Amino acid sequence: MKKLLSLLLLIPGLPLMAQFEDVSITSTHVGGAVHMLEGRGGNLAVMTGPDGVLMVDDQYAPLTDKILAAVREIDDGPVRFVINTHWHFDHTGGNEQLGGMGAVIVSQDNARQRMSTDQFMAVIDRDIPALPPAGLPVVTFSDRVTFHFNGEAVVAYHEADAHTDGDIIIHFPESNVIHMGDIYFNQTYPLIDRDSGGTVQGMIRAVQSALGLCHSGTRVIPGHGPLANCADLESYGQMLADATDRVRELMEQGMTVEQVIAARPNAEQDENLGNGFIKPEQFIRFIYSSLAEEAP
Ligand SMILES: [Zn+2]
Repeated sequence: MKKLLSLLLLIPGLPLMAQFEDVSITSTHVGGAVHMLEGRGGNLAVMTGPDGVLMVDDQYAPLTDKILAAVREIDDGPVRFVINTHWHFDHTGGNEQLGGMGAVIVSQDNARQRMSTDQFMAVIDRDIPALPPAGLPVVTFSDRVTFHFNGEAVVAYHEADAHTDGDIIIHFPESNVIHMGDIYFNQTYPLIDRDSGGTVQGMIRAVQSALGLCHSGTRVIPGHGPLANCADLESYGQMLADATDRVRELMEQGMTVEQVIAARPNAEQDENLGNGFIKPEQFIRFIYSSLAEEAP
């Protein structure tokens, strides 16, 4: 929980390095060639093997040396690829250093576009400056891309307008692992970045398409929260769909967003899921504003 509360929250006035001094990186073998690394910020996947290392996301810049030390505990081969699941700074902070070491940074087209320009996130009331050019992805794609790496065909799929407009999920078919990026917050309500084109409808569609990659024993790495499986992901998708249906019903009765929030349409889940970074009220605002944009 401490980890989730610290998500995106930096302490003003304290030097950046000092804020990460107490963070340690934990490593968990997930399946086949894939480990999950947790520190502060988005969960990483690390794939290792004879061709080298492929990483999914890289948290914050001050953690890069600690992350690299954790990777070398698994395998001391070169980091060849870093895939960014989306543009957010708690997933891309290590890009500059890793790119400088020779890793090829890869993202969806829209994610690079946002990393290369200043952004504003209303949900944390913060301007986010563009990444320095050395931290930007050098390979981008629109729909999907396959990495033929370590004997496995690793596929990154773009999921439109979900947590942002540039999300990808990454499937390791032989290792039987899916990395969801921030489309999946496990055990808390998700952030849907409306300023970056995210919508609840896209989140629901993305979960459905990820479920299509599931079979026996598939493990699922969420962007935030503990390691999961496909049953967990399915119930998360159901929660999103149920909450959205209830909000839609109240909107059809003519309720304003404040009235819908007051009606607590997802009350039965608030205790379980509403104690993370995103509170119940904010979750309803994400759904309401996503639905308000729907074509009639
Ligand atoms: Zn994010």
